[in-house]
Amino acid sequence: MLVLSSPSGAGKSTLSRLLVDEEKQSGQPFHLSVSVTTREKRPSEVEGVHYQFISRDRFAAMRDRGDLLEWAEVHGNFYGTPRDPVEEALKSGRDVLFDIDWQGTLQLYEQMREDVVSVFILPPSIAELKARLERRAEDSDDVITRRLAGAKAEMEHWSEYDYVVVNTDVEQAFKGVKAILDAERLKRVRRPGLADFVRQLQDDL
Ligand code: 5GP
Repeated sequence: MLVLSSPSGAGKSTLSRLLVDEEKQSGQPFHLSVSVTTREKRPSEVEGVHYQFISRDRFAAMRDRGDLLEWAEVHGNFYGTPRDPVEEALKSGRDVLFDIDWQGTLQLYEQMREDVVSVFILPPSIAELKARLERRAEDSDDVITRRLAGAKAEMEHWSEYDYVVVNTDVEQAFKGVKAILDAERLKRVRRPGLADFVRQLQDDL
């Protein structure tokens, strides 16, 4: 489970999409966890691709039934990860990519710390963060102000993450995330078939 978190505008969604595209080509497809949210859809967003946009009542019902693996309130809206698709993907041996905030990350740690690899993405500066939010031009001024205030709170949590990537240049940042992923996949504890492989090598000696 690869978790990417960052303040809004630090480039996390772009990095997630790049990772999913790259993995598709490499034949190790990621399952990208699509969250449910009570926030309004932005014009560029597609229902079921970026989020499933649902009502507050439906969100509460899902949460109360235990259908969410984790959930949080962010910038006055609710967000959560539907449990079943993640569990199915993991069961079939696929890695899962999450774009969630620090509150959700801590909830995943509580449930399966050893299976989670977390990466915190930082913007190179606040001026750049603001510029990115304004360039996106899909949010009103007061939404942007709220997101900048939220950025401060989100950044408090950088030290709870396994890795930190500063997104000065998206290609460089992508290389960093890819290097983390490649190294984590090579970890001995994530390779249950390795013992048999080594035994076979020894037998063949
Ligand atoms: P946005 O509204 O910009 O799409 O997302 C706002 C924040 O909510 C981002 O930090 C994003 O990572 C976080 N977020 C999105 N989906 C989820 C989720 O399912 N769970 C949690 N805990 N945070 C989420």
